[in-house]
Amino acid sequence: MSTEPATSSDRAALELVTLAKEIASCTLCDLSSTRTQTVPGEGSPTASVVFVGEAPGAREDRTGRPFAGASGRLLDDLLASIAMRRTDVYIVNTVKCRPPDNRNPRPAEIAACAPFLERQLRQIQPRVIATLGRFALSVFAPEAQLGEVHGRPFAQTLGPILHGATLFPLYHPAAALHNGSLRPTLERDMAALGAFMAMLPRDVAGEATLRQADSGSHGSGATRGGEAE
Ligand code: SF4
Repeated sequence: MSTEPATSSDRAALELVTLAKEIASCTLCDLSSTRTQTVPGEGSPTASVVFVGEAPGAREDRTGRPFAGASGRLLDDLLASIAMRRTDVYIVNTVKCRPPDNRNPRPAEIAACAPFLERQLRQIQPRVIATLGRFALSVFAPEAQLGEVHGRPFAQTLGPILHGATLFPLYHPAAALHNGSLRPTLERDMAALGAFMAMLPRDVAGEATLRQADSGSHGSGATRGGEAE
């Protein structure tokens, strides 16, 4: 009896599980020596949009899940505002291990981990990559200033890591929790992302098919340190 995955979705799911196991034993950078566990990412293996955050925080380090704290609750609310759920999207970080004391990930650590991100994107093949914050944006567009490019598709031609996806920069939810004045901006930008996703052809948008909006209440509380935007 064949053990080959039945569909491309099954194949992507299997490859992502294999990749997560590889990440779990990775020692390519110093973050491996201080992590509790890796946080490879989670979501739909056929998601039309992948959200790329910065780095795991303390709660993520404990649970192994991305955006497990207050930032995650805000992200959930933002997703609900465009009629999406975590299970519709894929959520990853630029580095899969927590930087000690919630410091910012260093360029060398982001570079060491970038091949994992690239391989995840190659499996998922999203139509849109929504970066959350300046560190994630720097992976795809090192010269771009988040304050100038957020909330709309990034027009410049970018490198092969995008695999044909459109880059859509957003502020990090933690930034909106640290600085309340950014929250309306993030909400507007997420609405713009929802509108952009809704304009994608149905056969391309796939699992991004929008349901009726179900706006929820917004969470609050402690966030990762060192997330300026
Ligand atoms: Fe490996 Fe990435 Fe963790 Fe560094 S952050 S040890 S490259 S998985």
